[in-house]
Amino acid sequence: MIAYKYTFVMNSKNVYIETFGCQMNVNDSERIVTMLADIGYLPVKTPADADMILLNTCSVRGGAEEKVYRRLENLTALKRTKKHLIIGVGGCVAQQEGEALLQKLPGLDLVFGTHNLHLLNDMVQAAERGERRSETAFIDNNQRLELFPPVKGMTRVSSFVTVMQGCDNYCSYCIVPYVRGQEISRRSTEILDEVRQLAAAGVREIALLGQNVNSYGLKSAGEPAFAELIRQVAAVDGIQRIRFFTSHPKDMSDDLIACFAEIPALCGHIHLPAQSGSDAVLARMKRGYTRREYLEKIRSLKSARPGIVFTGDMIVGFPGETDEQFEETLTLMEEVRYIDLFSFAYSPRPGTEAAELAEDLSREEKQRRLERLQALQKRITLEICSAYLDTTQTVLAEGEGKRPGQVSGKADNGRTVNFIGDKSLIGTFADVRIIQVFQNTLLGELV
Ligand code: SAM
Ligand code: SF4
Repeated sequence: MIAYKYTFVMNSKNVYIETFGCQMNVNDSERIVTMLADIGYLPVKTPADADMILLNTCSVRGGAEEKVYRRLENLTALKRTKKHLIIGVGGCVAQQEGEALLQKLPGLDLVFGTHNLHLLNDMVQAAERGERRSETAFIDNNQRLELFPPVKGMTRVSSFVTVMQGCDNYCSYCIVPYVRGQEISRRSTEILDEVRQLAAAGVREIALLGQNVNSYGLKSAGEPAFAELIRQVAAVDGIQRIRFFTSHPKDMSDDLIACFAEIPALCGHIHLPAQSGSDAVLARMKRGYTRREYLEKIRSLKSARPGIVFTGDMIVGFPGETDEQFEETLTLMEEVRYIDLFSFAYSPRPGTEAAELAEDLSREEKQRRLERLQALQKRITLEICSAYLDTTQTVLAEGEGKRPGQVSGKADNGRTVNFIGDKSLIGTFADVRIIQVFQNTLLGELV
């Protein structure tokens, strides 16, 4: 749960934000909350309580636009009883569809693209005067660096800090470079200021975010490389845990791998998507590494930090994927032994290179492969997690659990651990013995 704290608010109005997709979108929504506070909006948890509803959207996989249209149709119906309600769309679907969204949906007031957050408050004030606006122009990198509003006022013990945005990799299936724009790294001085402020406010864990986080700094003269940035974040007083998402295997440098041996605050978990276990498919995906190179990185990480756990992303049914190539993905999973995996059936995205390739697999065949992969992952997850039974894990308690009296937090390996404990533990580290293992969580008791 996200808690917000503001000391000075004029003319309080309420905003409800619904966030789709990745952690970067979650962090952008936090940024939106920070900005809207300046014009008197406070976040609420239900659309019914809102004066303004914003959808922060994702279009990475097919069907996203339809989902957003359907959701917006439902939400715009609320305008029948609440005439002053403002409705807006941001994020990747907004970037992709732009003005067309305003044309298709008469109840929609504003559309803001992925480079236009800085215009949001003006747009909202225009909507309050009855104007409808769409802003989706990409802006150049120098201007983007100046316009990176920090997140303020959060009281979460584990916080996201975006360090880079956009992507220049152009994997052949992926829409991100088209809707998020060119890769850009934030200034390290600003990142460290933000981390220091968060630490002073009680934050103990920092998750550094970027679409391709480990290419941080590579294209910015004067900025450190990602490994060095991690060392600088680890040196900030009060920061006891660091995570980062999402790394690209081709940018997993030896120096970054060495950080896992050197820096105790760096958690023993890495999200390192392979996407496929077949060299032929990886080449068609334009991923820039082979299966052997990927597995070498995994081996180096395992020796740098014994016990490290891996999560990843995998796509099944990429155009031309044969049965044998799909089997290679399953054998890669057995070799890596991911603790968890996000798996997707390939869906063509408009404007991408792969969308030009003939789709030779039926929807049923893709689904069959996805189910096989997910059944294998389920088994591996349970095998790995069963080994945690009876071990003591240090858990950073982040909030209340779903069951009464439970506190919930994360172990160093990123698994969610629930245990019976007093709410006063939230924000602190607790030693918890694992007594039961589930597919997505661990159950423990205070030691
Ligand atoms: N930057 C990350 C990387 O390189 O691994 C991934 C970011 S992407 C927003 C999240 C995941 O969505 C990808 O890792 C991929 O598995 C999946 N994805 C992207 N495009 C897809 C598509 N066209 N069809 C199915 N899954 C897709
Ligand atoms: Fe998409 Fe590839 Fe960039 Fe990841 S690295 S965001 S998959 S283009």
